[in-house]
Amino acid sequence: MECKQKNNLKYCNCTYDCNKKGICCECIRYHREKKQLPACYFDNKTEKSYDRSFEKFLEARK
Ligand code: SF4
Repeated sequence: MECKQKNNLKYCNCTYDCNKKGICCECIRYHREKKQLPACYFDNKTEKSYDRSFEKFLEARK
């Protein structure tokens, strides 16, 4: 199966300088291992805090 990185980038709101952009499998694995969520779980403003914690996710949903 071919990597769909180019297409995935259309849906990526991450502003952090990172080489995993659009490679969703690596992005999710990276943040899951840190007990975090990837940028696309956050609105654009919250994403810019670079706090990917579950707590930040819940706080942003209030
Ligand atoms: S969400 Fe995290 S792993 Fe994914 S592209 Fe952004 S900084 Fe990289």
